[in-house]
Amino acid sequence: MKTLLPTSTAGSLPKPSWLAEPEKLWSPWKLENEELIEGKKDALSLSLFDQLRAGIDIVSDGEQTRQHFVTTFIEHLSGVDFEKREVVKIRNRYDASVPTVVGAVERQKPVFVEDAKFLRQLTKQPIKWALPGPMTMIDTLYDAHYKSREKLAWEFAKILNQEARELEAAGVDIIQFDEPAFNVFFDEVNDWGIAALERAVEGLKCETAVHICYGYGIKANTDWKKTLGTEWRQYEEAFPKLQQSAIDIVSLECHNSRVPMDLLELIRGKKVMVGAIDVATNTVETAEEVADTLRKALQFVDADKLYPSTNCGMAPLSRRVANGKLNALRAGAEIVRQEILAR
Ligand SMILES: [Zn+2]
Repeated sequence: MKTLLPTSTAGSLPKPSWLAEPEKLWSPWKLENEELIEGKKDALSLSLFDQLRAGIDIVSDGEQTRQHFVTTFIEHLSGVDFEKREVVKIRNRYDASVPTVVGAVERQKPVFVEDAKFLRQLTKQPIKWALPGPMTMIDTLYDAHYKSREKLAWEFAKILNQEARELEAAGVDIIQFDEPAFNVFFDEVNDWGIAALERAVEGLKCETAVHICYGYGIKANTDWKKTLGTEWRQYEEAFPKLQQSAIDIVSLECHNSRVPMDLLELIRGKKVMVGAIDVATNTVETAEEVADTLRKALQFVDADKLYPSTNCGMAPLSRRVANGKLNALRAGAEIVRQEILAR
């Protein structure tokens, strides 16, 4: 990126109310068949328009064609039975009814590649595309086939690599893997989680990112955060190995969180997407609040490697609030950009 402090979002943005019930995760579609296909494309265009109007530099599809950031990808794979559901605890936090792995998992056809080509046609801005990471995928499933979290993660890494290569060919500039599970299963992260992620990015020439957060602003997550104490040092577990990894960018939750900013020193050298927008509140940040978080991050991240972003996806927020937050992000980044240029 030539732009100093290029802004982006962590991923999802709210869907229009005619497409899916707003302010809800796993919200069912309101359209069917051809109308649904067309409706998703229209929503993607609108979401891009909202980002461009707000002046966001690195844009995305706002995840408008997915019901959920993990399950929609899995739905496209063979070997997973969506009728056969089991209740599992997701990220040691909340129960969810999830599909079952019943055989070898395979990607029969591309999942998001047509969507990416469509977005590419609509804009010349750099595009970031989010995929679920291998560890977060296995954590959102019941496995009755491999009976090994690690083995299943490696299979998913292989599949994600196939998808990522085609997204790159479709013109995606940054491919991001969402790994909130990295903040929970520390031993596995270091044993095989980061290695599986590196398998997913193998051979890619575009930039790659990993997004690690404390989750959407839903009750199960905000309740969990209350148990984490005054300092959230979860990032400390994965950072040393991530610093050594092949991943170019690390996307993190910072604003309003209790993550000590000096932990960023552990990934010095990586580009950092600094979450300067809290997605767990409807209060829209002021530009000055955003700028303040970015200034704190600048103590530990070189200016040319700092990418202002959001803490997580904004799917559960209202469009009005999300658009307000996009504007605040752009305005806050602009304040700090001017300060750096004036030095
Ligand atoms: Zn997130």
